[in-house]
Amino acid sequence: MNVVRPFKSLSDLSEAGLLQGRDKAELEKVSARYAIAVTPTIAGLIDPTDPVDPIALQFVPDTAELHVTPEERADPIGDHAHSPVEGIVHRYPDRVLLKAVHVCPVYCRFCFRREMVGPQGLGTLDAAAMTAAFDYIRSHDEIWEVILTGGDPLVLSPRRLADIMGELASISHVKIIRFHTRVPVVDPQKIDAALIDALKRSGKTVYVALHANHPREMTDEARAACGRLVDAGIAMVSQSVLLKGVNDDPAVLASLMRAFVETRVKPYYLHHPDLAPGTSHFRLTIEEGQKIVAALRGRISGLCQPTYILDIPGGYGKAAIGAQPIRHMEDGCYIVSDFQGREHTYPPT
Ligand SMILES: *Cc1c(COP(=O)(O)O)cnc(C)c1O
Ligand code: SF4
Repeated sequence: MNVVRPFKSLSDLSEAGLLQGRDKAELEKVSARYAIAVTPTIAGLIDPTDPVDPIALQFVPDTAELHVTPEERADPIGDHAHSPVEGIVHRYPDRVLLKAVHVCPVYCRFCFRREMVGPQGLGTLDAAAMTAAFDYIRSHDEIWEVILTGGDPLVLSPRRLADIMGELASISHVKIIRFHTRVPVVDPQKIDAALIDALKRSGKTVYVALHANHPREMTDEARAACGRLVDAGIAMVSQSVLLKGVNDDPAVLASLMRAFVETRVKPYYLHHPDLAPGTSHFRLTIEEGQKIVAALRGRISGLCQPTYILDIPGGYGKAAIGAQPIRHMEDGCYIVSDFQGREHTYPPT
């Protein structure tokens, strides 16, 4: 049993030796604005003597977060624009987000919902709001998929999860239930028989989308937790955020994607970082991102290729932004580039 408690304040992090060499007075301003949490599992992966440790960069607060640029916005992907009832975001016809909780076991310093999550965030939906959310899903028979996100929905107890799955089980047009979570990596013991039973309760097809950004997160324990989910018949995909200093390197990303595939987690999305407040130190240009993604093509198996995605600010949805390998010529032919950058022609028909 893991008896070490999570670190939820600057003094917790300081006691754990994770704030060495940092300006604690300035960090107080960060902590006043954005939530902090690091699980013991994640703390154990950090090398406190490395000032650019890729795990620390993701979770340990940094004074760079105080710098907000004019382009950044509190609701970078426009959740509010498409929220018909509390906790539901309905942007695409066939699927909705259900944000039942706004709490996470860890708080990522680059989080796109950093203004909504945490102890001062939007909280957990109460029973009346949950009923209204289920009524919305029930009354829209075009909703084929429900995506539980937040926050991290796997912080809920197995009993609460079983209740949610039981409600969704009664809605026949919902075929797929997807969870977006970091729990298998940041708190792998939580993926136990009770939680898996709860996820299976609906009898529907369940997908778990695992958020991880650096190969060091894919420890033996994390892989075993994913293995328990997949063995139980739950399909897994990955999502990662392309982050400067963490994984903006084809070798690091290749190793992360391979770790996913070795664990039976199919790489799904690689997100360009969103315009969340105080996160410019994590952002690279889209051109830099395209070069990194193109380098993965030749380097690793097709099973390991994620789709490079931008969430368009303002609530317009996602766009695939990998560089196009094909150009249309005036004579109707195409020029297509191979993975080494050599160009070839392809006929019009
Ligand atoms: C990202 C997102 C989804 C899921 O998109 P997929 O491409 O199916 O992964 C659904 N709804 C909203 C509002 C989203 O932001
Ligand atoms: S786990 Fe997701 S919602 Fe929670 S802080 Fe990280 S990015 Fe944000």
